Amino acid sequence: MKEYEKKKSFNIGILKGDGIGPEIIDEAIKILKKIGKRFGHTFIFERGYLGGESIDKYGVPLSEDTIELCKNSDAVLLGAVGGPKWDNITPKNRPEMGLLQIRKAMGLYCNLRPAVLFETLKDSSPLKPEIIGNGLDIMVVRELTGGLYFGEKYRDNEKAYDVLSYSRKEIERITKKAFEIAKKRRGNLISVDKRNVLDTSKLWRDIVNEIGQRYTEVKVEHMYVDNAAMQLIINPKQFDVILTENTFGDILSDEASMLTGSIGMLPSASLGDGKASLYEPSHGSAPDIAGKGIANPIATILSAAMMLRYSFNLSKEADSIENAVKKVLEKGYRTCDLYKEGDLKVTTSEMGNLISKEI
Ligand code: NAD
Repeated sequence: MKEYEKKKSFNIGILKGDGIGPEIIDEAIKILKKIGKRFGHTFIFERGYLGGESIDKYGVPLSEDTIELCKNSDAVLLGAVGGPKWDNITPKNRPEMGLLQIRKAMGLYCNLRPAVLFETLKDSSPLKPEIIGNGLDIMVVRELTGGLYFGEKYRDNEKAYDVLSYSRKEIERITKKAFEIAKKRRGNLISVDKRNVLDTSKLWRDIVNEIGQRYTEVKVEHMYVDNAAMQLIINPKQFDVILTENTFGDILSDEASMLTGSIGMLPSASLGDGKASLYEPSHGSAPDIAGKGIANPIATILSAAMMLRYSFNLSKEADSIENAVKKVLEKGYRTCDLYKEGDLKVTTSEMGNLISKEI
């Protein structure tokens, strides 16, 4: 990240995608432009095409042109893909396939899914107020390209298997990322495994302990995945960074995000060792509300904040976006997904304008 320390100009690949994708991305661009003006950076946006919009334009969910654009950008911001228009296409050409292809092409092996519950939105959580306290801030670091989903597979009518395998290299690189992230947060890392029954977990835990010795400022603990699933419900505040493998991470990141109760608020990032990382909201393209101007743009705006923090090393600027979101929510402004009687209901672009004004 060092090369960015003095850099003022950043190329951002923009993949708006389908459904509400274009509406929410436009608001994130609005916010990035405001950050540029306020802090003296130049963000250059270059548009690529992914998912249904790419099928309509090029006949495939991801074109070589878009792969090139993404690989050559400093970071990529993505809306969401998919919708009923493309539901009857063969599975290998569907919009969602573009998503898997772009992650693979960019070598993204580290998925970050923060689960943040702002104090003002405490009522949206399914958990009791005494468990939530003054809010939640958990970061799930999930290995994205190894393990069960990518191992050798076999199936006949009598038997089937999926091989769970991890190499030292795969574990080391995700573990280093998790420690770096924990260092920038509250300095607590809980590595989740199933060491009592899985050999991959034994190797995983040994490597986490080895690498942990280089990060003395980070406190490391280990937890079995079944216990982690319970602890997230009974004592979520003990978690700062959760590091885990692909399958466990898939399940735990969804569980953690639901503690916040609001799908329109959750950003995500996928990082690799290449030049560019990918930032996107955790939700889908919400075709049911597309084009109505009512989608919540906050997940995408917070994804842009993650881009500033993790790709460009611009923490002050990222903080400024996160604080602006907090202030707007404290003032009672809500898009439809979060609205309750007594709140101030706003549209997608009004929410973007309000956040921009607070920066
Ligand atoms: P979804 O996340 O799009 O929508 C689920 C529900 O949440 C809907 O009622 C929707 O209106 C609401 N919602 C989602 N985001 C919102 C926002 N920002 N503001 C307000 N409300 C919001 O999930 P789905 O309905 O299962 O899938 C719809 C399409 O999205 C499908 O084609 C699916 O394949 C695709 N999808 C894409 C991604 C992605 O691009 N990363 C992820 C999941 C689903």
